[in-house]
Amino acid sequence: SNGSSDSVSESCIKIPTIKFSKLFINGQYVDSISGKTFETIDPRTGDVIARIAEGDKEDIDLAVKAARHAFDNGPWPRMSGTARGRIMMKFADLIDQNIEELAALDTVDAGKLFSFGKAFEIPSAANSLRYYAGAADKIHGEVLKMSRELQGYTLREPIGVVGHIIPWNFPSPMFFMKVSPSLAAGCTMVIKPAEQTPISALFYAHLAKLAGIPDGVLNVITGYGPTAGAAIASHMDIDKVSFTGSTEIGRQVMKAAAASNLKSISLELGGKSPLLIFDDADASKAADLALFGILSNKGEICVASSRVYVQEGIYDEFVKKLVVKVKAWVVGDPFDPKVRQGPQVDKKQFDKILSYIEHGKREGATLLTGGKPLYEKGYYIEPTIFTDVKEDMLIAKDEIFGPVMSLMKFTSVDEAIKRANDTTYGLAAGIVTKDLDVANTVSRSIRAGIIWINCYLAFDEDCPVGGYKMSGFGKDLGLDALYKYLQVKSVVTPIYNSTW
Ligand code: NAD
Repeated sequence: SNGSSDSVSESCIKIPTIKFSKLFINGQYVDSISGKTFETIDPRTGDVIARIAEGDKEDIDLAVKAARHAFDNGPWPRMSGTARGRIMMKFADLIDQNIEELAALDTVDAGKLFSFGKAFEIPSAANSLRYYAGAADKIHGEVLKMSRELQGYTLREPIGVVGHIIPWNFPSPMFFMKVSPSLAAGCTMVIKPAEQTPISALFYAHLAKLAGIPDGVLNVITGYGPTAGAAIASHMDIDKVSFTGSTEIGRQVMKAAAASNLKSISLELGGKSPLLIFDDADASKAADLALFGILSNKGEICVASSRVYVQEGIYDEFVKKLVVKVKAWVVGDPFDPKVRQGPQVDKKQFDKILSYIEHGKREGATLLTGGKPLYEKGYYIEPTIFTDVKEDMLIAKDEIFGPVMSLMKFTSVDEAIKRANDTTYGLAAGIVTKDLDVANTVSRSIRAGIIWINCYLAFDEDCPVGGYKMSGFGKDLGLDALYKYLQVKSVVTPIYNSTW
């Protein structure tokens, strides 16, 4: 039903050797204090790829000590922005020299498309370093217009030791969305990749060292959320936590920050983003966009267009096109260049998505396409589209994080806005129309952090992304992300000493 037949064809398998599997603390690869390791799995087969050091609270403590020392006494926050930028540029060049291997590592670890990793994800990681490297020597405060005879100015200082907690859906881009701006700011850091996808992060630690990033500035602790992750959130000597993940865990991170040292936090959380397609749209193009928005990265995207609202005049034609196009959408081995959709990241995510699909059927939604797992081995799921979906159904409310679209029909612009906003989330939204008035009205009325008009998933280093409402707060990407790793200090002095 979905094009290419066999799941994992022999010719496609090219698992690179896993070179780095230990914790990276103070510039050295070390075993965890407990000596424990955990398995990371190839979602194409369910087979073990490698055993990775399992860090826990004691390992986080060591990494924070190294990062604290590097911040309080080391050269990184003290060197010129130009010097930091030069090292970051070198780091970026080293990524460029290893694109194929890094893309392959993320493909075996997360089931991501190899071709996309090679063409976009890994190059975007390098470009993120370059973007912030170029900003590192442009960090400055302002001269203030004080109302009395005082002279005032602000400094922007690095916030200190940062804890980065990272999800599994974009192991490389997420790593650099966090690491690049905080490096440019002059911070030092402890990074915890997701337990599902620890491999590329450990490779990046090696490249950081080769590039000349001083020991202790960038530490990577692989391990689980409730242990290593929670130790970061509640640490007394971490100044900020930048978290990307589920809304549920984001809430726990916020609680832990409040209960420990009131560290600054930013939360990039879940979404249930609407895509609104208006009557004047080209039905074929709109169908392409809708599929791209929900099926890219097998639906494991926080900004996925999981709720698609189509105006009644174009609805039937749109559905017809959608069904034809989804039949041509190839699911299979993510190393195969014909394939558009690989396996879900792990068994847990696979089971969760299938249970939402069952729930949708029970709730009375109509299954238009898909709904079943594919192949004997691996965590593949058919592209799944539900029609007759109502806002109060679970499949319309919860973030499924899989290739599952909820399709709904609307009549007026006002109704579309109201229904699009009928969610606790506010991460992204899409609008398809040629009508400028509709595009302007809708984009300003939807409460979400990014609005894509006649496009979707259009990311750029310079374009901030981050939530409204329960999708969190604090932006990744753009200069906004740099500022979240800086804090403002005001300095005031009398203009005339005699007057004070
Ligand atoms: P998750 O919240 O379970 O895990 C995210 C990270 O938090 C992992 O590194 C995990 O180990 C860690 N973690 C788990 N429990 C923890 C705890 N108690 N304390 C501290 N850290 C803990 O989410 P996930 O399943 O890895 O990722 C899927 C979710 O992430 C989805 O809801 C998705 O929307 C969201 N996400 C959001 C964005 C965004 O930019 N807004 C991007 C990607 C993913």
